[in-house]
Amino acid sequence: MKKATIVGGGVIGGGWVARFLLNGWKVSVFDPDPQAERKISEVLANARRSLPSLYDKALPAEGELTFHSDMGEALAGASWVQESVPERLDLKHKIHAQINELAPAEAVIGSSTSGFKPSELNEKGARVIVAHPFNPVYLLPLVELVGDADTCENASDVLRSVGMYPLTVRKEIDAHIADRLLEAVWREGLWLIKDGICTTEELDEAIRMGFGLRWAQMGLFETYRIAGGEAGMKHFMAQFGPALAWEWTKLMDVPEFTDELVDLIAGQSDAQSGHMSIRELERLRDDNLVGMMRALKKSGSGAGGTINAHEAMLPTPEAAELPVTVNRPVPQSWTDYNGHMNEAHYIEASAQATDRFMEMIGCDADYIAAGGSYFTVENHVRFLDELHEGDLLTITTQVLKGEGKKMHLFHRLHGAEGQLAATVETLLLHMDLNARGTSLPSEAVADKLASYAAAHAGLDKPEGAGRHVGQRG
Ligand code: NAD
Repeated sequence: MKKATIVGGGVIGGGWVARFLLNGWKVSVFDPDPQAERKISEVLANARRSLPSLYDKALPAEGELTFHSDMGEALAGASWVQESVPERLDLKHKIHAQINELAPAEAVIGSSTSGFKPSELNEKGARVIVAHPFNPVYLLPLVELVGDADTCENASDVLRSVGMYPLTVRKEIDAHIADRLLEAVWREGLWLIKDGICTTEELDEAIRMGFGLRWAQMGLFETYRIAGGEAGMKHFMAQFGPALAWEWTKLMDVPEFTDELVDLIAGQSDAQSGHMSIRELERLRDDNLVGMMRALKKSGSGAGGTINAHEAMLPTPEAAELPVTVNRPVPQSWTDYNGHMNEAHYIEASAQATDRFMEMIGCDADYIAAGGSYFTVENHVRFLDELHEGDLLTITTQVLKGEGKKMHLFHRLHGAEGQLAATVETLLLHMDLNARGTSLPSEAVADKLASYAAAHAGLDKPEGAGRHVGQRG
């Protein structure tokens, strides 16, 4: 099992712990704060309720987490070391001198620094690259990499394997890419509040009701390309370029952080969000992020593409007597006001099982693109037990009939303890997508389906098969 060592386990270090641990890595922590273990356990609780919900497959079993008061002991055997101590260059120099001496020679050493350049971190002989993540590290994929090209390349492979998106910065610069943009928005925001143009809440509405939604899926330039209409980017630049010379921006002029300004902003922020604790705000943020990222997963845009790429690397469970067609945690967004999985999502889960089974018999994306597919014509769901957020949901699929145009399936949905939580009986007909009518499947698909049907013919008829609403036993 691969091992990561996290030096400094605060907000960001705790997020790194969760990212590696939930992807099956062994993780050791070095942090002198006596509260570090408690704080990290709270970050982990948030990560466990959100990260697995991004995927339709199970993540690897969690690795082992250990805490150490001796840095050498923490670093032994690590292939990744991530420093996330406070943003002070003298402290980073001291810590990296120790890491350099004690870490395995082949380990990648990353610093979470938001602002320092690798040349500054390494001016006393360290061998660290910048690996700058975003909070919450366990959910947001972006990591900006800056420094030695070979090390950044190795680091990229590791980060992809834990579901992250490495972005290698072409030249070092203070604060890398994303924080330079954020700093510009932050400076302008401070002016708008200091000058009484808006409150913190109104400024946040200006972001989240409009361009914030666009940025999450297309960023800045792709969004502006659309804004240029059919004529595209050149037209957009001709139209809005001159505005840059107007008095729209005070960017380089920083408002002075007087007590008055700090009190104004802190007071407005309390009025805006003080009714919720930081942990409650974190959970709200995480639930929203999961919902948005799952939407992006459907189109493969932005962070959704990273989730899809990572999911393709996750192992599919071995075929049992009955094929396992779904093996995934129940996402928070599938649960409702009763605290359990909402009925609509039993159908969604069984549709995923059907899709997977169709792939297994060769009715995959290429086959569908060539004009053949199966359409569901009937479903019957039996709800037998509750499923809760985060429960591992496993679905097995039994073929009741598979001949001619018909495919008759029986999905069993099992909960975390293996209990039968629901069954979904599904009848599908093969379709010619061009003629929009029923048709026979290709010979290859028909053969594969028939082989499953023959293998399952010897099994008992499942309890509940053939039932309809109102029928007993
Ligand atoms: P933090 O204050 O929450 O955590 C710092 C941790 O380092 C604390 O737990 C502290 O006990 C520990 N620490 C202090 N001295 C130490 C030492 N000698 N050895 C080991 N551990 C020590 O800070 P943070 O927000 O997690 O920031 C850490 C780093 O991550 C900074 O470089 C920061 O720029 C960067 N960063 C922060 C954010 C953010 O949003 N907070 C985002 C990206 C990157």
